Amino acid sequence: MDENKVKRGGISVETAHIFPIIKKWLYSEKDIFLREIVSNATDAVTKLCRLSSLGQYDSGDEKYSVKVILDKEAKTLTVSDNGIGMTEEELEKYICSIALSGALDFIQKYDENNQNNGIIGHFGLGFYSSFMVSDTVELITRSFADDKALRWVCNGAGEYEIDAAERGEHGTDVIMHISDEESAYLDENKIKDILEKYCSFMSVDIYFETEGDESDEASQDASTPINETSPLWLKNASDCTEEEYAEFYKKVFHDYREPLFHIHINADYPLNFKGVLYFPARINEYESYEGQVKLFYNQVFVADDIKEVIPDFLLMLKGVLDCPELPLNVSRSYLQDNAYIKKVSSHIVKKVADKICSLCNVDREKYEKIWKELKIFFEYASLRDKKFYDRVKSAYLLELTDGTYMTVDEYLKCCEETHKGKVYYTNDKALQAQYISMFESEGAKIAVLEHQLDVQFISMCEMNDSEIKYARIDSDVVDMLKSDEDSESNEGLVALFKDSVGNDKLEVKFEALKDESVPALITLSEESRRMEEMMKMYASMGMNMGADFPVEYTLVLNSNSHLIAKLDSVNQTDSEKAKLMALEIYRLALMSQKRMSADELKAFLTDSFKLLGML
Ligand code: ADP
Repeated sequence: MDENKVKRGGISVETAHIFPIIKKWLYSEKDIFLREIVSNATDAVTKLCRLSSLGQYDSGDEKYSVKVILDKEAKTLTVSDNGIGMTEEELEKYICSIALSGALDFIQKYDENNQNNGIIGHFGLGFYSSFMVSDTVELITRSFADDKALRWVCNGAGEYEIDAAERGEHGTDVIMHISDEESAYLDENKIKDILEKYCSFMSVDIYFETEGDESDEASQDASTPINETSPLWLKNASDCTEEEYAEFYKKVFHDYREPLFHIHINADYPLNFKGVLYFPARINEYESYEGQVKLFYNQVFVADDIKEVIPDFLLMLKGVLDCPELPLNVSRSYLQDNAYIKKVSSHIVKKVADKICSLCNVDREKYEKIWKELKIFFEYASLRDKKFYDRVKSAYLLELTDGTYMTVDEYLKCCEETHKGKVYYTNDKALQAQYISMFESEGAKIAVLEHQLDVQFISMCEMNDSEIKYARIDSDVVDMLKSDEDSESNEGLVALFKDSVGNDKLEVKFEALKDESVPALITLSEESRRMEEMMKMYASMGMNMGADFPVEYTLVLNSNSHLIAKLDSVNQTDSEKAKLMALEIYRLALMSQKRMSADELKAFLTDSFKLLGML
């Protein structure tokens, strides 16, 4: 070859070889052929409507539709539209050559500035998916600009013929002669299911007919479109009623329960997507959340397990997203590292957070009603995503022991004097009943944080917000319960308690508590208790975190208590009785901290009877 000459060319494709590949591999799921052919038909109608709106075609009072006709006897499935149709030139250009899209040409010619034209096709491949299920595909078409119709027939080897045909009006019929291996596609229910899955919200009325079936049911089916051409997500949120949202949810997700709330998203350019997301209700906390977000492309269903578009902590959401910016044939790998998808995903997170805040601010009554169900999600999502937490933190509700709710801000404001910036909480109303009543008699408000996740959540809040401190009512919070008097220590009693409990290291301290009826309290610093809880949680998850964390309790003796005063005098005269009394006081204080083991309970009962015998 001449060294100075460069040869250029396009790769040529041998139809006979490429055709079997298309038949087998074009789509992993065969059902998609119907979506492709029906969306070509709706595209054809959309194009004609576009020309009509540009004044290039007078549509008069034409009623546009797409018909899907199943003829079991003839073994054909036909998709027929009264759209734009094709001229001979167009037929040869777009149908006779693979991967040439008339849609792109049309958009370039008529729709340059229109960001979202509603036209589905792009790749020029979809039509050939009909060969995945057919031996032969026949196409009869008449362009809106022509009075001649054409017939194109192509066999499975990719050889075609074009000749003249009869067609009363403009439009196209795609007649698929279903192959013997794919005879399942001659089943009426299967076709109905596929249409329902992929075509339920396409933009042109679609009718399904079964040739030769004269039954009432069939004629009713044939006169009612199988789809909803203006789905809810395309409307303005202000034009939709609560009933419409609820009805749409029930219809699409077959869930009889009302969702807790919904979010209508209408993201402008450049994100340019629309959708309605629902937060589903659960019967109880053990029921797992199984969300489902259906992805659409210009009203055509694409997929419904698109974990890439929704962050995993929002996977319990149900809903629909219509993203015309995504290609119709989205593949997993395409979605995974896609910058657009990441933006869509963070926009959704923002919208969910905004909705939660607006419910809290605008519809507080409803928000309080759903809070119990929302709380775990709120905490989990906040732990997973700091940005989400920052957006929603003002909407975190504290449920108080009296059953009312307050945001953290409201709580801190209302208890400014007494609580000094601390949120007091209980994690077990029954076990900590004594502490609760002591706190309540001081006018304190106590939040109920009983769930395992609560501890992690509040630790995270404290880390992010140095202003907020959470303290369990049995932690070292005697400040609130102390009277103004000074307390005096009593070394004799300190020694007595250490001796009776049998723990030389037991920390014993005296405080003058307002409530004289309480002789002693056990306290444990908030930090060491949380550490202990974390260790327990890790242990329950089978994670060994090394040596047991030493739990350091403090025994607080109430210097205002008559019983402690009495113990002091008994200690002078009857040391055995004093020892038993001290042990009982210690155990009773311990009981309001934790449940006793079987052995501890047995010893407690034996000693109680012994003590009673001494009276
Ligand atoms: P795509 O839809 O992605 O462009 P297809 O292979 O499905 O690719 O179709 C190729 C082209 O054939 C379309 O762009 C369109 O111009 C033309 N076409 C297919 N079906 C029809 C139809 N029912 N009516 C009119 N034109 C059609």
